[in-house]
Amino acid sequence: MKMSEKLKAKSCLVIDCSKPLKRGDRYCSMHRARLTRTGRLDKKSAPEVLAARSTFTENGCIEYNGFRNALGYGRLRFAGEKHLAHRLAFAALVAPIPEGLFVCHYCDNPACINPSHLFLGTHQDNIDDMKNKGRGIKGTMVHTSKLTPEQVLLIRVDPRHYPLIAREYGVTGTSVRSIKERRSWQWL
Ligand SMILES: [Zn+2]
Ligand SMILES: [Zn+2]
Repeated sequence: MKMSEKLKAKSCLVIDCSKPLKRGDRYCSMHRARLTRTGRLDKKSAPEVLAARSTFTENGCIEYNGFRNALGYGRLRFAGEKHLAHRLAFAALVAPIPEGLFVCHYCDNPACINPSHLFLGTHQDNIDDMKNKGRGIKGTMVHTSKLTPEQVLLIRVDPRHYPLIAREYGVTGTSVRSIKERRSWQWL
């Protein structure tokens, strides 16, 4: 872009923003307000928002310290929508949550958003989970959270066919695929 063109620019300088400039500014009023308020032009990601409001506990949980509902689950607004904190954490850090499935806690701590303490379950799993506090979860589900980080790394480099790997680790072929394609456990 030539200098003369840049000077003539009529829209906000933020990439992909085509809002008109605020008078005498290089940004639109929305971006100028965000910059003034937060010191940055991009929105915070879900993990950033969650991390800023959470603390580690001794037993390895990451507890959400913002608003909690009557059942003890963290609740927040993100990107204009209401979310349960542990579901938002799971969706952002592990895998999208298939419709109708619940995000359950291994650690029995509803405020916990530690991705490795969360797993996908059916409605029945969720009920069992609440009933059998402290007892192991019965493995009816597709969750890959029952793997340890070490196992996930081994799966990534395992050259064998997916079904073989899946059988060995007691997960589904779909789980193996999403681990290998980095759609789950992305932080490893
Ligand atoms: Zn803008
Ligand atoms: Zn936990």
